[in-house]
Amino acid sequence: MTLLLFSLLAASCTSKPEPLVVLVVIDTLRADALSFSGAPVPNASPAIASLKEESVWMSRAYASSSWTLPATTTLLTGLHPWQHRVVKEPGTAGCFGRLREDIPTAASVAKMRGQRSAAFINNAFLAPEFGLHRSFDVYDFHGAERVGHRTAMETVTSALAWVDESGQGGFLVVHIMEPHTDYDPGPTWLGVYTADMPHTVDHPIGSYTHNQWLTGQLVPSKQDQLYVRAAYQEEVRASDEAVGVLVQGLKDRGRWDDATFVLTSDHGEAFWERGIFEHGATLMDEVTRVPLLIKAPGLTPGDNDRVVDGSFVFPLLVDPESETWAEVRDASTAPVRPALMQGTLYRNQQISLVTREHRLLADLSPAADGQRYAELFTIDASGTTALQPLPAEHPDQRIGAAGIELLTELRGNTQPTQPTNPQGVESADVFQKLRAQGYLDENDCE
Ligand SMILES: [Zn+2]
Repeated sequence: MTLLLFSLLAASCTSKPEPLVVLVVIDTLRADALSFSGAPVPNASPAIASLKEESVWMSRAYASSSWTLPATTTLLTGLHPWQHRVVKEPGTAGCFGRLREDIPTAASVAKMRGQRSAAFINNAFLAPEFGLHRSFDVYDFHGAERVGHRTAMETVTSALAWVDESGQGGFLVVHIMEPHTDYDPGPTWLGVYTADMPHTVDHPIGSYTHNQWLTGQLVPSKQDQLYVRAAYQEEVRASDEAVGVLVQGLKDRGRWDDATFVLTSDHGEAFWERGIFEHGATLMDEVTRVPLLIKAPGLTPGDNDRVVDGSFVFPLLVDPESETWAEVRDASTAPVRPALMQGTLYRNQQISLVTREHRLLADLSPAADGQRYAELFTIDASGTTALQPLPAEHPDQRIGAAGIELLTELRGNTQPTQPTNPQGVESADVFQKLRAQGYLDENDCE
C-alpha cells in the first residue's frame, strides 16, 4: 500500500500539470471594436488578431444581458438571467440578486474535480457580496471603482503569478476593466487615436459629464461622439496589449498548447447609435454583440457564424466532452437555437430573442395603458440589426408572435424577473461605491 502511494505521488510529481482552462472577460468590449470585425480605428487589436489565428471566432455571439452582474453570472453558470435571477429588481428600487448557493458554477465544478481555480476581478458588480466568488480558491477582487481601477497589465501579471505559484492546471478567470468608462487608457495609449481629432469634450470623462450623457440630459455633437468612440478604442488597445502578454506568458511557461482559452465580454457599449450612451439601458446590438474567441487543443481555427449567447460558454469551461464543442467546430450542427438576452440596469427590464435574420425586443413591464411593448427587427447578412423595427402590419410579425410564444414557454411567463436573495448586497460599503458611480438611487434597499 505504501509502495503504491509512493508510486502515485512520484507519478504526480513528474507528470505534466493538468491543462488550464482560461476565461478572459474584457468588460464592455464590443465585437466590432476589434481589428478584424469592423473597428473604426487602425490596428485596433493586434494581439487579439493574433489570438484569432489560433482560435474559432464566433462572429454572431451575444451577451446574455446589458450589464455586468447578470451577464457574467450567465458566463459562469450557463443559466439565463431569468434562471439564475442575479438581476436588478425591476422598477425604481435598486435591490440586486445574489447567486444562490445551490447553483453550480465553473469554479464549483473545478473544485468538485479537485482542480484549483482563481479569478482576478476589477468590477464593483462582481464583488464577493453578489456570490460569484463562491468556490474559487483565489478571488482577487480589486474592483470597486471605474476610475483608477487595477490596470489590465497588473491584472494579467497577477494571473500569471498565480499560474506560477499553483504550478498546476485548473480554472482561471481574468477580468479586464479598461474599456468601461471613464476611458482612461494610461499614458501608453492615451491619444493614440484621439490626438488629432477635433473635439469639445475631454477624456477621461468626468463623472458630471458621464451622468449627463447617461441620463440623456446632454447629447454630444456627432464630432464629439466620434471622439468618445475613439477614446474608448484606446482602452481597447490597452486591453489588447495585456491579452498579448497573457498569451505570451502562457506560451513561455509551456502552458499554452494544452490550454483551453476563451475570450469574450460581458456586454458592449452604446455610442448614441439609438440616442443611448453606455450600457445597461438597451439590449440592441451595440450593447449585446460581443466577441467570442475559443482556442482549445485540437480545435481547428476558423470563423463560425452560429448564433450563440453567453450560456454557450459554460459547457466549454467545464466539460471537454460537451456536445457544445461540436457546435464550435461546425456552425451548422443541430440544434439551432436563438440567442436570448435579458435585463437592463436602467429603465424597464427588457428581453430579446435573436435568430439569424430577426431580433425580437420586448419590454417585460406593461406600459401605463397595460399593453406590453414589443418590436421586431430584421438582421442583415452581416448580422447587423436594422435601426428601425418592422411596421406592425408586416407579414414577418408572425415571427415576432412565435418569438413571444417561445419566450413564454422558456421562461414560464413574460413577467419581469425578481432578484433571488432580494436582500442583495450585504456590505453597505459596496453599495456606497456603486452609488458613487451613479448606479443606485438614494432610496435603494439595503
Ligand atoms: Zn460590465
